[in-house]
Amino acid sequence: MISTLVLSGSLLQEMIVHVDQHAPLEACGVLAGKVDRAEKMIGVLNQAQSPVRFVMDPYEQLHAFDWIEANGLDLVGIFHSHPAGPETVSPTDILEAAYEVVHIVLSRAETHWKARGFWIENNEAHEVVLQITE
Ligand SMILES: [Zn+2]
Repeated sequence: MISTLVLSGSLLQEMIVHVDQHAPLEACGVLAGKVDRAEKMIGVLNQAQSPVRFVMDPYEQLHAFDWIEANGLDLVGIFHSHPAGPETVSPTDILEAAYEVVHIVLSRAETHWKARGFWIENNEAHEVVLQITE
């Protein structure tokens, strides 16, 4: 478990642009980096095409994982949006969390997106501080 994930403001902005483009549907993607630092985001198609649910498209997910490995990075996070809230991971998100990485929820309140991080283990979510750098 990690308690802080470090990422740049521009990386956060890239995630926001990706999920904003797909709203009101949920959007998702993965974060590549090292240990507690995210360096790159890769958007993945939401196969569910739903405003309240996401399922990463298996082909695009595999393609993203291949890219991460080819670039000598690790999977450090998975992000998805809640265009109509809430700010936190849902019971379904907790149940379906398949990777021990930081789960970032981008939630929207009116036109503003907010990001919060969570570590999910043993069916419990623990907040992970997102430390935004320049
Ligand atoms: Zn969710």
